Amino acid sequence: MHDDRRLVEERLERALRERIRPATYAATVPLQLAVWRVPGEPVPATEALTAGYEPFATGTRWGAPWSTSWFRATGAVPAEWAGRRVEAVIDLGFVGDWPGNQAEALVHDLDGRPIKGVAPRNQYVPIANPARGGEQVDLLIEAAANPDILAGGFVPTPLGDRLTAGDQPLYTFTRADLAVLDEEVWHFGLDVDVLSELMAELSEGDPRRHEILRALERSLDVLDLTDISGSAPAARAELAGVLSRPAHASAHTIHAVGHAHIDSAWLWPQRETIRKTARTFANVTALAADYPQFMFACSQAQQYAWVKEHQPEVYRRMQDAAKAGQWLPVGGQWVEADGNLPGGEALVRQIVHGKRFFLDEFGTECQGVWLPDSFGYTAAYPQLARLAGMRWFLTQKISWNQTNRFPHHTFWWEGIDGSRIFTHFPPADTYNGTLEGSELAHAVRNFSDKGGSTRSLLPFGHGDGGGGPTREMLERARRLRDLEGSPRVEITSPDVFFTAAQEEYADAPVWSGELYLELHRATFTSQARTKAGNRRSEHLLREAELWAASAAVHSASSGGFDYPYDELDRLWKLVLLHQFHDILPGSSIAWVHREAEATYAQVKTDLEAVIARAVRALLGDGPRPWVLNAAPRDRAEVVADPDGRATQVVAPAHGAVALDVPETVPDSAAVRVGDTWLDNGLVRVEFDGDGLLTSVRDLHAGREVLAPGTFGNLPQLHTDLPNHWDAWDVDRHYRRLVTDLTDADSVTVVETGPLSGAVRVERSFGRSRLTQTVRLTAGSRRIDVLTELDWHEQERFLKAAFPLDLHADRTAAEIQFGHVHRPTHTNTSWDAARFEVYAHRWIHAGEPGYGVALLTDSTYGFDAGRATRDDGGTTTTVRLSLVRGPRSPDPEADQGTHRFGYSLLPGATIADAVAGGYAFNLPLRVVTGGTSAPEPLVTADGDGVAIEAVKLADDRSGDVVVRLYECLGGRAATRLRPAFPVRGVQLTDLLERPLEIQEPPLDPDGTVPLDLRPFQVLTVRLAR
Ligand SMILES: [Zn+2]
Repeated sequence: MHDDRRLVEERLERALRERIRPATYAATVPLQLAVWRVPGEPVPATEALTAGYEPFATGTRWGAPWSTSWFRATGAVPAEWAGRRVEAVIDLGFVGDWPGNQAEALVHDLDGRPIKGVAPRNQYVPIANPARGGEQVDLLIEAAANPDILAGGFVPTPLGDRLTAGDQPLYTFTRADLAVLDEEVWHFGLDVDVLSELMAELSEGDPRRHEILRALERSLDVLDLTDISGSAPAARAELAGVLSRPAHASAHTIHAVGHAHIDSAWLWPQRETIRKTARTFANVTALAADYPQFMFACSQAQQYAWVKEHQPEVYRRMQDAAKAGQWLPVGGQWVEADGNLPGGEALVRQIVHGKRFFLDEFGTECQGVWLPDSFGYTAAYPQLARLAGMRWFLTQKISWNQTNRFPHHTFWWEGIDGSRIFTHFPPADTYNGTLEGSELAHAVRNFSDKGGSTRSLLPFGHGDGGGGPTREMLERARRLRDLEGSPRVEITSPDVFFTAAQEEYADAPVWSGELYLELHRATFTSQARTKAGNRRSEHLLREAELWAASAAVHSASSGGFDYPYDELDRLWKLVLLHQFHDILPGSSIAWVHREAEATYAQVKTDLEAVIARAVRALLGDGPRPWVLNAAPRDRAEVVADPDGRATQVVAPAHGAVALDVPETVPDSAAVRVGDTWLDNGLVRVEFDGDGLLTSVRDLHAGREVLAPGTFGNLPQLHTDLPNHWDAWDVDRHYRRLVTDLTDADSVTVVETGPLSGAVRVERSFGRSRLTQTVRLTAGSRRIDVLTELDWHEQERFLKAAFPLDLHADRTAAEIQFGHVHRPTHTNTSWDAARFEVYAHRWIHAGEPGYGVALLTDSTYGFDAGRATRDDGGTTTTVRLSLVRGPRSPDPEADQGTHRFGYSLLPGATIADAVAGGYAFNLPLRVVTGGTSAPEPLVTADGDGVAIEAVKLADDRSGDVVVRLYECLGGRAATRLRPAFPVRGVQLTDLLERPLEIQEPPLDPDGTVPLDLRPFQVLTVRLAR
């Protein structure tokens, strides 16, 4: 046979483009439009119903950036359309390739009830099927002029904030019609799409490819190009044979589930997400009514809560769809949080609040973690997920790795404590699937676990305001259920997929440790004030819960203190929302980060008020000064008393100590200060005329901490323009361009002992100013660097370097409930790709017998490496990442004032680092109160265990809940010491539900002995 394959394919393409698709709507009539432009922020439909509208014509510009226009569309269904399927078709002037991230609308009826969303790839609104003919149509279209922030690529744009976006209209209203959907033509187009896409993926040597080609050719032969509607049934009949051929026995199975990835804020503010979810969820519930087999997996409890509050009608439809088994709450988290930076307790609360919401509202116990899009995943997840009763984990983001291909798609993921969770990366490499032929074929080709496993998951649907799944996707799925040459496509729930996948592949390979994303490494640093807000809020929440629980228990007999359940619940959820994977990582527009900073300031005010009330209830009123220690370790520190005088105190863990007996410092422990040095008998710090540390001597260990000839706390300024994704990425080449900021404007001794000594160093560079106070206090090895940075650099990356005289093979970095080790060398491509990493409160570098810790109170990013010196020694350099200045999507990111601290702790073990991390982030609190203070509410013995949270139980029973963990990576035997009578002890899951395991004993003295495995997290419920 002559090979005319290309000729037939081109014939098909033209017929599809020019004749078949345009014939999908058999007839159209325009609707009449009128407009009301909302003067400010969005309003509810009730307000739009009574507004004054003025005439509007298609072809007219509309929509200043971020503005809302309500369009009223009216008309009548022509009598001759009786019996047909009639829809409205609306094109707001959609532009570009993105299915979301631009103009969108929610269409309401004249009672203000939402009908359906309208988006670039989902433009219809059902009117009648079958139509009677003559019915009046009256629609209210709430159209949002959201700008496409990345339309020009990663270039600075003022569009990312209402305050800077200007008032020029963005869109031209293109179409508002009533139309008849010709179902035969529509189905014919879908038949052709599915077959031609499948054909294109088959090899030229495959007979099936040619069978499909000839069937399509015969179909074109019988299609009358002047009467598509009339000839479509005959043309479809020619395709029935090839569409009915069953899949190969060994065909891969794709478990498809509808989804709409909606970022809780990103290139739009939170208020727009509230509307995006309503639009998309209205689409989904409409689709669920039309397609009983359709299932939709929906994560992020926060988005449900928004819809419940703002669109109760849509929410009721969601609950109905859930009852019908079509709407599936998944993920069990409050938002799809960043996978690295949330603190331990915050990650627990993401899961607790997410799971509980879905349980309370939908009766659904979420089985798995759903995080397709976060930027890497902490090795704490497997244990936390298991402790919340979850059994699977889903992401696909690691497919974005710049360097290394991850070896598995289905595997057991093992966390730092050894917990394992069954994990899947959809091999289609997307969470916005469309079920097109190329996507399905890629999934099969790409799937790494063929031979061991026969199935994969594919979430399909347009995200971010694109409207979610479409009816076309469901029609594709129907045709692809069992089709020769294609993977089988089944619509199932993720739970069903994971059960089947685990059953057939129980011996799946194991990946141990963090899932590091070899991309988006700048998300550990970008938008530093947002990150500082998160860190400080997390620690204020810890304090608020601790002191409120202490006050509630200790003043119970005196009728004292109402634990502020509702207030803490509200504040936790605010902080959890801001851990969303484009807010905390710093990858959102200016509007989002401006609001985040304001929210964190309010959260601080509100939590300080909670703490003040609790402390007053705990200590009573009075003038006596007290010091409160919210950290889980006893600590000796220097504090300023209410009169500003420095005093040394020893404060018990979770307790208070009176400050009225000034400690005198023995000469041997006093801080002595010279022109170029600070010395407290434990550590001696020397600095040069530019304020750079030239020596840090550990006097107890008798060794120098800094590598010879280097400077400690050296600020280094890099040029930092990544190849793509400015706020997200720092590319390896940034390291090649660096300026050491060695020059100081002034170096001034500002504290001269005996309790503290400090030198203030001021540097200016570019248009910026860095002011650092380097402080040493009596009795402590900690060298604090308190920083105020007035930052006006852009496309720069500021680091603080500590070159240490250490032969360290690896660093330890704190993560949630433990730490991870990462090598300091770059032997493999995997090691080399981790050139920028993160830690929570501390980083530790050490060699046998000696270590050094760096503590942070606001920042997360760092890098570590090592070099061999001419003298044969090894320099291990740890550099803290302080601030960047990306210009997209927020052109003014990070500009302005930053206040943060970090601290060098010589001679530190991991236990010292753990204690130091808590202490540095939970400054001692000086207050005034009555004459006595109660005992610490609850403590745990030993360095191997840390208490992460103390609170009253969420069920409001008054029970005390303590979350603790083994923090050194070994075994620990501890004893929990409650300062109140305990009626019973129970180990619970993260949701404070009893675990079906042996209850720990309650000893006669009221203490609770506990044994913990390495990095084990325990939640202990103490009944009062
Ligand atoms: Zn996302």
